[in-house]
Amino acid sequence: MTGLWFRQALLPEGWTASVRVAISGGRLATVEPGAPPRAGDQRHAIGLPGLPNLHSHAFQRAMAGRAERRVAGADDFWLWRERMYQLAQAVQPEDLRAIAALAYAEMLQAGFVRVGEFHYLHNAPDGRPYADPGEMAISLAAAAADSGIALTLLPVFYAHSGFGAAAPTDGQARFVNSLDGYGRLLEGSGRAISGLEGAVLGVAPHSLRAVTPEHLAELTRLLPAAPVHIHVAEQTREVEDCFAWSGRRPVDWLLAHAQIDRRWCLVHATHMDAAETLALAASGAIAGLCPITEANLGDGIFPAEPFLAAGGQIGVGSDANVRIDATEELRLLEYGQRLTQRRRNVLAESADEPTADRLYRAALAGGGQALGCDPPALRPGAPASFISLDAEHPALADAPPDEYLSRWIFAAGRAAVDGVWVGGRQLVAEGRHLRWTQIVSDYRAAIGRLRADSA
Ligand code: ZN
Repeated sequence: MTGLWFRQALLPEGWTASVRVAISGGRLATVEPGAPPRAGDQRHAIGLPGLPNLHSHAFQRAMAGRAERRVAGADDFWLWRERMYQLAQAVQPEDLRAIAALAYAEMLQAGFVRVGEFHYLHNAPDGRPYADPGEMAISLAAAAADSGIALTLLPVFYAHSGFGAAAPTDGQARFVNSLDGYGRLLEGSGRAISGLEGAVLGVAPHSLRAVTPEHLAELTRLLPAAPVHIHVAEQTREVEDCFAWSGRRPVDWLLAHAQIDRRWCLVHATHMDAAETLALAASGAIAGLCPITEANLGDGIFPAEPFLAAGGQIGVGSDANVRIDATEELRLLEYGQRLTQRRRNVLAESADEPTADRLYRAALAGGGQALGCDPPALRPGAPASFISLDAEHPALADAPPDEYLSRWIFAAGRAAVDGVWVGGRQLVAEGRHLRWTQIVSDYRAAIGRLRADSA
């Protein structure tokens, strides 16, 4: 049994002094407040649950910072997508493993302990399924094992390029499936993750552009209790196209035609009117927000204040992985609201609780629900997945415990993440992933292969 001791730890009841935890079989066997450290215990200053990252396309890490030069007259999401498709076309299974391992190691270093991988790169570059339809899922499972992050794999169903069952484009050949093919893919994906402790399998209709209403109904029946994730209302053009097709806005259409409930995570849901905002909040579904990506791609700003005020639940995701930082997602979520409303602490629930605590608490609960597991918590019986913060970071100097989250999220950022444990295994020490050198070396080799292919 491994023991750790924290000077302060965030337990379900709040910040607590002198907490000793014992780990057995990947879980917290005991959590003792007010206990002294024992001989052999690792000692850390500040311990707290790590955050779930509910939405990632790991391979896109390989284009981070490489699309920041304007193309054509007015660069937008759709032009970015063309460049992303070029990368998607080139990535081989071994490349995916290396790129995803880097993204996952960075997620761990940034305070995430579980990732929801919204995975749509299924077929060989010629559009045919691999001999094992789960080939690319095997690469993602290997990357999760290489890095140690907990995985919720969300194989994506993709059939069309636009509303009204428009034929897919050449650039989408690696994503496309029939329902039968998707059934085989789901089986292959289940096999791929079967050796990973705590892994969860869900289903992911890509978007209302890419699936028909009939597909949607079928997909939600395939794994009856599993998470269902879908991209929705990210771009205003998508809202206009959906309205032209159906006479409804995307979130409104989904709420009217699918049984949206706690199983669901609506990724982005950026463009909602007031009625959609209230209805989604009441549905029990999670709004999966990706503020860094939404800023990078020029998507828009989620109506977070009315959504949270109506009892809506949110989580955060790193999506395109242009930057990977749990605190930055939360900070940018709040800053988007401040910039548009010209007020401060917009998403605070009350004067009693710091804004950072509210955001962190929401992302912990919403992320856990969206990824099909209990929210990370320091309580007996829970998976031993948590992080420690470096109390020596200047932004944390003289911080009282009730300011730790404010100092971390608004001032220090990912640099203050010191140690990370998932399922009882320490993966990050002194801010660095324990396999960092190997993972970066493998990543560089993959980037070299991709550049050679495109030359
Ligand atoms: Zn996405």
